[in-house]
Amino acid sequence: MTQKFDVVVIGAGPGGYVAAIKAAQLGLSTACIEKYTDKEGKLALGGTCLNVGCIPSKALLDSSWKFHEAQDGFAIHGIQHAGVTMDVPAMVGRKANIVKGLTSGVATLFKANGVTSIQGHGKLLAGKRVEVTKPDGSVEVIEAENVILAPGSRPIDIPPAPVDQNVIVDSTGALEFQAVPKRLGVIGAGVIGLELGSVWSRLGAQVTVLEALDTFLMAADTAVSKEALKTLTKQGLDIKLGARVTGSKVDGEEVVVTYTDANGEQTITFDKLIVAVGRRPVTTDLLATDCGVTLDERGFVHVDDHCATTVPGVYAIGDVVRGMMLAHKASEEGIMVVERIKGHKAQMNYDLIPSVIYTHPEIAWVGKTEQALKAEGVEVNVGTFPFAASGRAMAANDTGGFVKVIADAKTDRVLGVHVIGPSAAELVQQGAIGMEFGTSAEDLGMMVFSHPTLSEALHEAALAVNGGAIHIANRKKR
Ligand SMILES: Cc1cc2nc3c(=O)[nH]c(=O)nc-3n(C[C@H](O)[C@H](O)[C@H](O)COP(=O)(O)OP(=O)(O)OC[C@H]3O[C@@H](n4cnc5c(N)ncnc54)[C@H](O)[C@@H]3O)c2cc1C
Repeated sequence: MTQKFDVVVIGAGPGGYVAAIKAAQLGLSTACIEKYTDKEGKLALGGTCLNVGCIPSKALLDSSWKFHEAQDGFAIHGIQHAGVTMDVPAMVGRKANIVKGLTSGVATLFKANGVTSIQGHGKLLAGKRVEVTKPDGSVEVIEAENVILAPGSRPIDIPPAPVDQNVIVDSTGALEFQAVPKRLGVIGAGVIGLELGSVWSRLGAQVTVLEALDTFLMAADTAVSKEALKTLTKQGLDIKLGARVTGSKVDGEEVVVTYTDANGEQTITFDKLIVAVGRRPVTTDLLATDCGVTLDERGFVHVDDHCATTVPGVYAIGDVVRGMMLAHKASEEGIMVVERIKGHKAQMNYDLIPSVIYTHPEIAWVGKTEQALKAEGVEVNVGTFPFAASGRAMAANDTGGFVKVIADAKTDRVLGVHVIGPSAAELVQQGAIGMEFGTSAEDLGMMVFSHPTLSEALHEAALAVNGGAIHIANRKKR
């Protein structure tokens, strides 16, 4: 007999697994189809995020930062040691254990919530039926009242630098190096390139980042991107802007990369090259030609503001649809869709999705940049507070960067919070909470912040919007 579910989810990344758990919690019979297997050939839930994305990259970022601190950051605290060494396989092994714990945790959550986990490749057929091709090649068709497509994304390949996962790797390969490459090239100065470049740079690699664009971190507020470029360069990342890679030649265990910049054609040799030029939606063999779901001109599944596709009862979420490719965006879309399936009036505030880059200092923002607001003709007041003036940051010897709060000059409503500095991701989240409730800079300024905290920098930046900061001289007078 054909199995039938209220909800069938294709893909168990942060979009799909969260949607499946939520659906089961709301009393809907739910199945989630996933095909990804780990190195041992076992089904591994959690998608890009848990297996080869957010979590493993942060594990390596944290390990490499501790090594860097142990090498260069302890003496100022009076801590002397004879010298530190790095066991790269142990670091990568720790990362693998974290991944294993979390992916098996999703399997446990599926069991606890009554989600039926199905291993195989899912394909949407006409009439809300889903064909599952199992690992043994057998095929089963299941029926669904509702289907949620959450197949995610994969790294973009570029013809000048074909990935061989040995010398030229993508982000997944860059999480698996068993030794620190002496000369590391990174194509792309985006989030992933900067994070992975930072990991290996802290461990001693000489890192060169080749970025085709002339502008660094275009999506960030200009003040933040300028500070980031300065700081990361000081840390040893050689970031070449306007450098377009045109070719590469692997020769044994090294690769010669050709690129053009303002001075013409250049060549540079690396021991490893990471290609991190972005990701594209995964739709391979996902949609039967007569299923009715359409793709947009960029290959993303076409959806409306509520993630509904062109077929009633079929939804798509996460990296496979328009918008930022972020785990938290994928998860919230999953929750919104399931709530709507249940008949609730859920919606998502796409204007307040925080962005984070986990370099050191961290870079994070929510809302609009000063340049975007000015381009829209919005008059703003800006308050900035440097961590150099924060007692907590001084105590931690981590004083780089600042908090910038941007408010509407007429209403004082906060329109953007931008942070480069320690715990930027956490501080920006506080701004996001306030902004969701329509906070003004004055509201933030009137709140009591614990002392001494890094959060006080957000408080002071909000006060500075209207010339009322206490611990710095105000540019704007009241
Ligand atoms: C190195 C790196 C670091 C990152 N760091 C961050 C970060 O710090 N913060 C952040 O928010 N985001 C980060 N991201 C992005 C984040 O991982 C993605 O935005 C997120 O995983 C997208 O979730 P998703 O559920 O849409 O898709 P995915 O996580 O890609 O999951 C999709 C799943 O669907 C499965 N699948 C695909 N097609 C089928 C099919 N036909 N049948 C069955 N299964 C299928 C895939 O195997 C996969 O497991 C990072 C990404 C990378 C690569």
